[in-house]
Amino acid sequence: MNRPLKVIIIGAGLSGLALAQGLEKGQNGIDYVVVDKESEPRDRNWGVTIAWSHPLLAQLLPEELYNRLPECQPDPGLDTKEAGFESVIIRDGQTGETIVQPPFPGVRRLNIQKTRAVWSEGVNVKFGKTLTDIELTADGVIAHFHDGTSESGSVLVGCDGGGSWVRRWMLDDKGTSVVLPYTFLNFPFRYTAERAVKMDKMMHPIVDVAVHPKSMYVGIFVLDKPDLQRPETWVFYILATWAEDDNKSASPDAASGGDKNMVDELRRRMDDWADPFKSAVEWISEDVHAKAVPLRIWGPPDSGWDNRGGRVTLAGDAAHSMTFHRGQGANNAICDSQKFVTAMVKVKNSTMTLAKAIDEYDADVISRGRTEVEISKAQTDAFHDHANFHNSPIMRLGIKPTSTSAASK
Ligand SMILES: Cc1cc2nc3c(=O)[nH]c(=O)nc-3n(C[C@H](O)[C@H](O)[C@H](O)COP(=O)(O)OP(=O)(O)OC[C@H]3O[C@@H](n4cnc5c(N)ncnc54)[C@H](O)[C@@H]3O)c2cc1C
Repeated sequence: MNRPLKVIIIGAGLSGLALAQGLEKGQNGIDYVVVDKESEPRDRNWGVTIAWSHPLLAQLLPEELYNRLPECQPDPGLDTKEAGFESVIIRDGQTGETIVQPPFPGVRRLNIQKTRAVWSEGVNVKFGKTLTDIELTADGVIAHFHDGTSESGSVLVGCDGGGSWVRRWMLDDKGTSVVLPYTFLNFPFRYTAERAVKMDKMMHPIVDVAVHPKSMYVGIFVLDKPDLQRPETWVFYILATWAEDDNKSASPDAASGGDKNMVDELRRRMDDWADPFKSAVEWISEDVHAKAVPLRIWGPPDSGWDNRGGRVTLAGDAAHSMTFHRGQGANNAICDSQKFVTAMVKVKNSTMTLAKAIDEYDADVISRGRTEVEISKAQTDAFHDHANFHNSPIMRLGIKPTSTSAASK
């Protein structure tokens, strides 16, 4: 029963990597392994807004990696403070006027693929292994992978994303995510150099999104500026959602998209929109294609989950899979990682048993996660209800955390 503490981390996304960095950091020196099913980077990419989780991230990453966060930004040259953009902007899509511009000191965007590449440095990650079984033993847990290999440890933490296999292993059907009734597009593209420069000037560089009376949300973002001097290389992306009922009545084929190019469907819906969104869509070249993807959420049930005596738990989207409309998923994932590392330090220092430390960790993640998933859903609904948008969570809270535990150490 007295095996040395070892953590098995399933998933090398933002939560798994931040957690590994924290276990590795300085005096912590806690044994772990990260295992991920991917052997090469995913084709899907987007940006996340990092706001209140900055101080938590500073505790997890070694100073050298923390100082390299600008490298992970879509625009490595952007200092939001210097540029006067320490905020996000939400507009009325029909008029282009600002509805609200919640300020946040130090706010930054991170491109998730660039971030994963940087945060993988200096940690023990094994790629190309899919978790297929979890075996509980008297003194810990064994993770089995598709290639016949396994890893044993004291505790396994599922950082395996919104469709988490670990979550479904723990909770069966209760662990399955729910698809919300919205059509969701997320697709990247480049403009001509001239248009890229114009769009870059027209839009807010962090978050520029709008609610439209047509029960529709559109956001234009920068994903990457690989060469600051050559605007034709800059990659932008659009996030768009609209209510599915409306979509079905307009075009039966459009909700799932089928083989249809959903950029055409978006173009069709952009009449009566103001800039920057109108031009953002109009200027996309005809050869850009996109499919709709399901907009899924999952929040922990009231009863939480059984952590099998502190041997299995969850973090990040696996623990609370929220919509992106208030930009909180990655911030909460980093918060989970920081809290998990703090719990493991207590176990290492023998000030708490593993079972107790995981119980405490779970209590916070479950309650914070459940609340935040509900709020994210309310924010999604509000982005499709122009008349009542002023009552939405983002108007009350901006991009601040809802739970006091998120700010505490
Ligand atoms: C379009 C969009 C915009 C967003 N905007 C924001 C924002 O502005 N602000 C914000 O805070 N958040 C935002 N989010 C949310 C944020 O991206 C996520 O919360 C965060 O990236 C979750 O990280 P994760 O590590 O928990 O999961 P993931 O990044 O999904 O990582 C899971 C990892 O687990 C691996 N894996 C899965 N199954 C297995 C298995 N069986 N075996 C081994 N490995 C496995 C996967 O390969 C993957 O690498 C946004 C999300 C989307 C989709």
